Amino acid sequence: MNKRLEDVNVKAFLFDMDGVLFDSMPNHAKAWVHAFVSLGLKFTDYDVYMREGMTGSSTINEVFGAQLGRCATEEECQRIYQFKSQYFESLPAAKVIPDVDGVLSTIGAAGKEIFLVTGSGQASLLDKLNHAFPGIFQKERMVTAYDVKKGKPDPEPYLMALVKGGLKADQAIVVENAPLGVRSAVAAGIFTIAVNTGILRDEELLNNGADLLYHSMAELKADLPRILRVAQRSF
Ligand code: CA
Repeated sequence: MNKRLEDVNVKAFLFDMDGVLFDSMPNHAKAWVHAFVSLGLKFTDYDVYMREGMTGSSTINEVFGAQLGRCATEEECQRIYQFKSQYFESLPAAKVIPDVDGVLSTIGAAGKEIFLVTGSGQASLLDKLNHAFPGIFQKERMVTAYDVKKGKPDPEPYLMALVKGGLKADQAIVVENAPLGVRSAVAAGIFTIAVNTGILRDEELLNNGADLLYHSMAELKADLPRILRVAQRSF
């Protein structure tokens, strides 16, 4: 059951990072496919995008289960994940998603808070964000891998952002790009915008409960004045 923008009184936007702020999914896809194919296992870019946000060991165990009929050992998990990570690190750094800076500045100019909710746990995350988006992200408005026990698709990361912001679910809007991220946000009871920045069919995001869908940040930016106008439920 989709939510109505009219029922939202938006005070904050909660942004996912990979595929929303940075175009990092093509590199993740290359690295995962390389890791599995080099073991003689089948894995496509589409498979990577479908699993975005899943832990490395869950991804490895799913592929092992489906193709080898068994779980990976702890040692195999570590070795494959390390292989994937090393290859990923060797690729050129991901660029900022086109037009997301315009989305962020429009939201900031409207006086709304901006939160980051990511499953990533890089130590230098805040530096990277400040470099790409000066002055937008603050430590106290971030939920990362260090803050949560259960990652997406569990609602915990988005629920924690609500707690950090002193927000009710109907006072926030999530911006996501991945099926599991959308599922997490929807399970947290938050109005969820999907921006399909990758290669997935729109249905993969809509079937997981996205309330609105755009195909680019430029499309979202063009509709932001309407979103900001409508999502102001008065009490
Ligand atoms: Ca993402």
